[in-house]
Amino acid sequence: MSGSAVALDNLSFRYKGEDRGSLAIAQLRIEAGEKVALIGASGAGKSTLLRLLDGRLRGFRGQASVLGRALDPARSLPRAWRCDTGFVFQEFALVEQESVRQNVLNGRLGRAQPWGSLLGRFGQDDHDAVERAMGDVGIAELAGKRVDRLSGGQRQRVAIARCLAQDPALLLADEPISNLDPVTAQAILALLHDCAARRGATLLVSSHQPRLIAPYVDRFIALDRGRVVFDGPPEALRDDTLAGIYEEAGLVPEPA
Ligand code: ADP
Repeated sequence: MSGSAVALDNLSFRYKGEDRGSLAIAQLRIEAGEKVALIGASGAGKSTLLRLLDGRLRGFRGQASVLGRALDPARSLPRAWRCDTGFVFQEFALVEQESVRQNVLNGRLGRAQPWGSLLGRFGQDDHDAVERAMGDVGIAELAGKRVDRLSGGQRQRVAIARCLAQDPALLLADEPISNLDPVTAQAILALLHDCAARRGATLLVSSHQPRLIAPYVDRFIALDRGRVVFDGPPEALRDDTLAGIYEEAGLVPEPA
């Protein structure tokens, strides 16, 4: 058991049928309450690492512990643990024809009593958590609107509210700003940062836009072919290091 939010030791993972490994991390610790950006070129292993931490990766080697609980490479996460980790997806993953409130309420499915939630019955705690989450992300006035009528920025707010309604201690976000314009992207990053800070949650957010994300995190972890090639505060990430991380993939990071 470990007191860190994330603790990895001698962690490696290879997808079935692939000859190259996707993750190879000797040691990594993320302490409770840290706000971390996960950067690296396409294919560096960011999504794979986030999936591991979300308990969705079978067959890894080494030790991985999340919120002090060891992950089992042969099993999915027990239901009781699942809600403690929240996941925000790049493509929002919302139920388009449902209202904003219903989508956010879906975030409570894991916390609600199993039989009650199957029947669509939620308790007062669930409804309170939904109102609080919608208020925190500034979408209370959209509660009755259908999700398919919303803008990209509004949809990402709904996705974040759904995740917050779960009351997660670890908030994982996989490229949450890649479909958004720069102004909306900054608002979403500020929101993720503030919501995590207010709730004392740990935040790990992957992005291709290190310069945009820097003001909203305490730490950068850069991956290259599954290995950690930089780990430190945003101000320590020099332009030449950044260029090196993206160079081999033929990508040029966006200017400061
Ligand atoms: P990133 O999120 O940084 O773009 P990924 O974690 O998606 O990187 O991918 C890491 C490596 O794993 C890449 O080489 C990718 O091709 C491979 N990979 C990712 N998902 C799968 C999968 N479902 N099956 C096989 N290989 C995969």
